[in-house]
Amino acid sequence: MLTLALSRIDVLNLAYLGAAVLFIFGLKMLGRVETAAKGNAVSSIGMLVAAIATFFYLTGGTAISLLWVFPAIGLGAVAGSVMAKRVEMTQMPQMVALLNGFGGIASLLVAVADYAHRPGRIDRIYALLDLPRDILTTRPDGMEALAVRAMLENSGANSPTTMLATGLATVIGGVTFTGSLMAFGKLQGVKWAPDQPVQLPQQKWIVFGLLALTGLLVLLLMIWPGGWPFVLLMTLIALGLGVLLVIGIGGADMPVVVALLNSYSGVAAAMAGFVLGNYALIITGSLVGSSGLILTNIMCKAMNRSLMNVLFGGMGAAPAAGSAGGGGATQGTATEASAEDAAIVLEAAQSVVVVPGYGMAVAQAQHAVKELAAELEGKGIEVTYAIHPVAGRMPGHMNVLLAEAGVEYDVLLDLEPANAKLESADVALVIGANDVTNPAARHDTASPLYGMPILNVDSARTVFVIKRSLNPGFAGIQNELYFQGNTRMVFGDAKKVVTELAGELEQL
Ligand code: NDP
Repeated sequence: MLTLALSRIDVLNLAYLGAAVLFIFGLKMLGRVETAAKGNAVSSIGMLVAAIATFFYLTGGTAISLLWVFPAIGLGAVAGSVMAKRVEMTQMPQMVALLNGFGGIASLLVAVADYAHRPGRIDRIYALLDLPRDILTTRPDGMEALAVRAMLENSGANSPTTMLATGLATVIGGVTFTGSLMAFGKLQGVKWAPDQPVQLPQQKWIVFGLLALTGLLVLLLMIWPGGWPFVLLMTLIALGLGVLLVIGIGGADMPVVVALLNSYSGVAAAMAGFVLGNYALIITGSLVGSSGLILTNIMCKAMNRSLMNVLFGGMGAAPAAGSAGGGGATQGTATEASAEDAAIVLEAAQSVVVVPGYGMAVAQAQHAVKELAAELEGKGIEVTYAIHPVAGRMPGHMNVLLAEAGVEYDVLLDLEPANAKLESADVALVIGANDVTNPAARHDTASPLYGMPILNVDSARTVFVIKRSLNPGFAGIQNELYFQGNTRMVFGDAKKVVTELAGELEQL
C-alpha cells in the first residue's frame, strides 16, 4: 500500500503553494472591477494560510520566542486597522506610500538581522563538528575542512548567493523606505517634502554613481561575507538614495512613483525570502514586484511618459516665464452658467457623458451623480461615464467611487471608447476633473502635460464644467478648456451643484 509521509517542512511548503495559488487567483480577480472585492478577499485568505502555516511551523521546534512575535503582530494589527479606518479615500496614495515604506524597512531589517546572526551560525557549525576555528588554514585539504566548508555553504553563512540576497534586500529595502517616506510627505503636503522637484546639479549622475557604488559593495560582500562595514555603508547609501531619487520628482508624478516603490518593496521582500529560505515570501514578493511594475507601466502610458522621464524629468517644476503651459495664467474669458441653464441644455440632450475627477471625490458627490444620471435616464437620455486612468488620486479611484454609488460597470468607458463617445455626445458634464481634460496636452509642446492622452471633452457639442473656481488642478497648470467657446463653467461644490441640477431637471 502506498503511504504518504509528510514532514513538517513538506506541510509548510504545501501550505505556501496553496497560498501562492490564492494570491495568483486573487490578483487575476483584482484586474476586473466586478470581481475586485472578491479578489481582495481571496488574496487575504492566502496571506492568512501562509501566516498560520508559518506560525505552526515555527512553534514546532525552532528557538523563536513567541513572546516577541505576538506583541509585534498585535501592535501591527491595531496600528494598521486604525490607519485604514481613519484614512480618507483621497488620502489613499499616502497610505499606500507609507505601507510600501514599512515593507521596505521590514525587508532591510530582516536581511541585516539575519546577517547579524551569521557569526552565531558559524560558531554552531564548529561546535557541532568539534573543530578548532583555524582548521581551514591549518589543514585546508583535510576531510574536516571539507566538512566545515560544506556546512558553511549549506547554512548560507558564507554563500555568495545568500550575501547577494542580503545585499539586495538591504539596498532595495532602504531605497524603498526613505523614498516612500518622501513620497508620503509630498502627497501629504508636509514642509520637509517640497511638492516641487528639487534637483541637485548633476543629480542623474550622482544617482547613477551611488547606484554603482552600492553594486560594488554588494559584490565585495559576496567576496568577503564577513564585511560588516560593507553592510553598514550600503544601508546608509540606500537610505540617502531613496530620498535623492524621490525629492527630484514633482508631486504630480507621485502616483507613478508610489506604484514603482510598491514594486521595489516586493523585490526587497523576495530578496528577504531568499535570505530566510522562505518560499511564501519569495512568491509574494515576486508577485508584488511584477504587478507594481505593470501598474507603473500602465500609468506611464496613461501620461505618455517614459519611466526615465518620470524619474529624472522633474515634471511639476515651476514653468519657465512666458511658457504657454505656465501654471495659473488665464487665457481669455471663461463663460459662466447657472445650474438652471445647465439643466435646460441637459434636458434637450440625447447623449450625456459624465467626466468625473478628483473634485467629485473631494465633494463625495458620487451618490448625487448617480441620482442625476437616474433623472436624465428617466427622460430617455443616454448617460455614460468617461474614466481617465489617472483621474483622481489613485488608479481606479473613480471606478471605486462610482461602484460605491451603484453605477453599473457597463456604462463606465475607458479612455478610447470614451473619446469615441465624446465625439457624438451632446453634453460632456465634467465634475471636478481638470488635468485629464486639458486640451493643451494635445498641442502645447511647452506644457508639462504635453503628450498625456486626455479625455477629449471639447469634442462634445457643449461642455459643462463643475468646480469651485478657475484654479488649476494637481499638475498646477491652467486648463485652456475653460476658455473655449463651447464650455460653460458652473461654479460651486460638486455635490451641491449636481444635487441642484437633479432638482432643476426634476421640475422640467
Ligand atoms: P485635478 O487634480 O486635475 O483637478 C481636480 C479639480 O477638482 C481641481 O481643479 C479643483 O478645482 C476641483 N475640486 C476640488 N474640490 C472640489 C469640490 N469640492 N467640488 C468641485 N470641484 C472640486 O484632477 P483630475 O482628476 O482631472 O486629474 C488627476 C490629476 O492628479 C492628474 O494630474 C494626475 O496625474 C494626478 N494624480 C493622479 C493619481 C492617480 O493615480 N489617479 C494619483 C495622484 C495624482 P477647484 O479648486 O476650482 O474646485
